[in-house]
Amino acid sequence: MKTLRLILGDQLNHHHSWYRNDSAETLYFIAEMRQETDYVCHHIQKVAAFFEAMEAFAGWLQSRGKQVIHYRLDHPDNTQKLGTNIANLIQTHGIEKFEYQLPDEYRLDQQLQQLADDLSIETQAFDSEHFLTQRDELAQFFNSKKSLLMESFYRHMRRKHNVLMENEEPVGGEWNYDKSNRKKWKGKPAIPHERGFRKDVRTTLARIESAEVKTFGHIDPQHFSWPTTRKDGLKVLRHFCTHLLVHFGDFQDAMDPDEAYLFHSRLSFAMNCKLLHPREVIDAVINHWQQNKNTISLNEVEGFVRQILGWREYMRGVYWCEMPGYAKLNHLQNHRDLPAFYWTAETRMNCLHHAIKNSLEHAYAHHIQRLMITGNFALLTQVHPDQVDDWYLGIYIDAIEWVEITNTRGMSQFADGGQVATKPYISSGSYINKMSNYCQGCCYDVKEKTGEHACPFNSLYWNFLAEKHKYFAENPRMAMMLSLLKKMDPEELKALQKRAHQIIRNPDSF
Ligand code: FAD
Ligand code: SF4
Repeated sequence: MKTLRLILGDQLNHHHSWYRNDSAETLYFIAEMRQETDYVCHHIQKVAAFFEAMEAFAGWLQSRGKQVIHYRLDHPDNTQKLGTNIANLIQTHGIEKFEYQLPDEYRLDQQLQQLADDLSIETQAFDSEHFLTQRDELAQFFNSKKSLLMESFYRHMRRKHNVLMENEEPVGGEWNYDKSNRKKWKGKPAIPHERGFRKDVRTTLARIESAEVKTFGHIDPQHFSWPTTRKDGLKVLRHFCTHLLVHFGDFQDAMDPDEAYLFHSRLSFAMNCKLLHPREVIDAVINHWQQNKNTISLNEVEGFVRQILGWREYMRGVYWCEMPGYAKLNHLQNHRDLPAFYWTAETRMNCLHHAIKNSLEHAYAHHIQRLMITGNFALLTQVHPDQVDDWYLGIYIDAIEWVEITNTRGMSQFADGGQVATKPYISSGSYINKMSNYCQGCCYDVKEKTGEHACPFNSLYWNFLAEKHKYFAENPRMAMMLSLLKKMDPEELKALQKRAHQIIRNPDSF
């Protein structure tokens, strides 16, 4: 039967069973589409990385003798309407069956379901064979439970997949070594150079530019450094195991103005477009640790495994449990605009300046910069979650809605009312100072609360608690913070709130 198989840009799974079960009558279709470049304004590195990865994947399929139709943006037959492209191919090639892999985004899931319904030929949807859970597995797991606690899901995943387990017990006796993973990085140990690539992406860039795709951010066209093939991804994974894993956990939450990556893996893009499978990443890390137990501690490994086996699968589960409603949630009723400096990094607040500058330069920031610097400030200044979402969805190389929105709207902005995070991730300057090297180079004084040189995070933090204390009154994890608020001298609180409101009204002047 002549079959057309659609491959989306984030479905570059070399090990998918499709490629073992096809025939000379199977036609693979992959296309650069304006609907994907334009649904939000993206960082130029993100668009380039997807197009490079898609091109390499099409080439890999062709090298294995598969029939591939690859539409670049400027291909004469690319109508830029997915349905029309597919209908035209069905007609031109006498296609009898249309097949696709289940997309990971709600928007595309709806579109492909509709498209398949409208076709007059047989259609079939396949699993993408990437995740360690089914779409609805989280919903089933939490069926009878009150809250979606990640830790209990993570333990279930450890047991189910027999990861870091020994006779039904967690290896080392503890499930979670988070407490050991909070060291500040003070210039040592040395950070090995990133496993970058010197790819020349000028052809792809020229295509993006001539199609006038609106993008932002920086790119070095002859030294593009993200993994866009499976081979690259495996190299980044090896580099992580050999050089970075040894300190990953210890410095997981650390931040430094000049070190964009510290000991983080930079594997999210390769995993999110499915060049690497989460299980192979977990196995590689555990195998490496097992051979190097004398130098690598368990907390480094468990910290990493938790991110992938726990958080990554959990976020996907929450997404499919809660969409489409999740994308509209705004429990804290925040309605302000995102400060303009999120697009330029032009702010005197050193932490925000560096976290945003790095993001504009590399399309990357690590988790704590996303959560406790940019996310924290947006939440404390009451920015509308739609605007926060759009910024995160556009700027990061790894941003795909299923994992972006759950982290942003859920974990970072508490817009879901606490489904993902049991308390809001907010902090004053003291946490930032404890975990980073930003404050010593800042024109604001992290110890001051009021006055023109006071760190803006300090007054914003107390103002947040004062304004939202009723909302969080029943939350046991907020009890300590709220009792400190209660004990505060009313005059001091008044002065703090006055300064906070100046910042909230005009964040771009700070
Ligand atoms: P490492 O620190 O080396 O971690 C290893 C892997 O664990 C990552 O590659 C990633 O696959 C996984 N992981 C770690 N934390 C999370 C998490 N919270 N949720 C899901 N997976 C996780 N991650 C994305 O992949 N796409 C996003 O769009 C995205 N948006 C985010 C927005 C906010 C506001 C926050 C707070 C976090 C976001 N994250 C997102 C999670 C996390 O920040 C990134 O996965 C991580 O920074 C990627 O860099 P890395 O590969 O070096 O990660
Ligand atoms: Fe950020 Fe405040 Fe530290 Fe400046 S003093 S870097 S604004 S936390």
